[in-house]
Amino acid sequence: MPVAGHPYAGRRIGLATMHGKERALAPPFRRVLGAEIVVPVLDTDTLGTFSGEVPRPDTPVETALLKADMLFEAMPELDCALASEGSYGPIDRVPLVPGGVEFLAFVDRTRGIRHVETLSTHRTNWRLQRFAAGDPARLVALKEMGFPAFGVFVVCSSDMSRPIKGLATVEAVIDAMDREARRSVDGLAVLYSDMRAHKNPLRMSVLRAAGWKLAHRLASLCPACHAPGWGRIDSRRGLPCEACGQPTHWIDFEINGCLACSHSESRPREDGRRVAARSSCPSCRTASLCPRSGES
Ligand SMILES: [Zn+2]
Ligand SMILES: [Zn+2]
Repeated sequence: MPVAGHPYAGRRIGLATMHGKERALAPPFRRVLGAEIVVPVLDTDTLGTFSGEVPRPDTPVETALLKADMLFEAMPELDCALASEGSYGPIDRVPLVPGGVEFLAFVDRTRGIRHVETLSTHRTNWRLQRFAAGDPARLVALKEMGFPAFGVFVVCSSDMSRPIKGLATVEAVIDAMDREARRSVDGLAVLYSDMRAHKNPLRMSVLRAAGWKLAHRLASLCPACHAPGWGRIDSRRGLPCEACGQPTHWIDFEINGCLACSHSESRPREDGRRVAARSSCPSCRTASLCPRSGES
């Protein structure tokens, strides 16, 4: 049931997408807020693409906000816009495990709200591998990447500027790989995941989860100015140690704030903890590890 009397109930919210993202985002916005998602005709590829031909102007957060801003040019009658940006690939900390983050930007230009909801995930089939022409492992790799339910791109290893998209059959992918491998200086073709939402069911499901998270955030109204989006903006560390009372790195207070005005409120931890474990306390740890510290 949508929140009764919510400012966005019955309103139209623009979504900048060419990749069917309304399939993931329209249901939460309709069910939670009673708002309708509308999609304009818009060339978001001018902002850069996953396949890499157009360089990204900035970080994913900035790109997502910029895409939302662009939407107002196409639909000047709207006050609110949504846009998303995904970042997928190997994780720095765990190089062999791919992961991803979805950035879902929301702009309400009449209230001055600019908010980016993020959702990170390990649920991705992102892969990038290189193969020589005729390598039998090509077929195995293609199967592991979920093709054809999940899309793939092929590109020449020594010239990554022109990836081949729109490959619909196994034969077409294999032909493209062998052709690109033969014209590559190192004799290899690159096979990698197409992460565009309409070509990647896993990414679409992550986007759907981000959509629910954002819709619930917007459902909550600021107690001071009643703007949508009241919620956690920060936290304060320093929960006291159970033994000595010194501050630890554990979170002490969560801080809720408004996205439109400067109102904020701090509240104690949701789990009810008022003291931190002794093992997390730097003072107690130092005391037990170096019982005679301070003596020469
Ligand atoms: Zn302590
Ligand atoms: Zn407020």
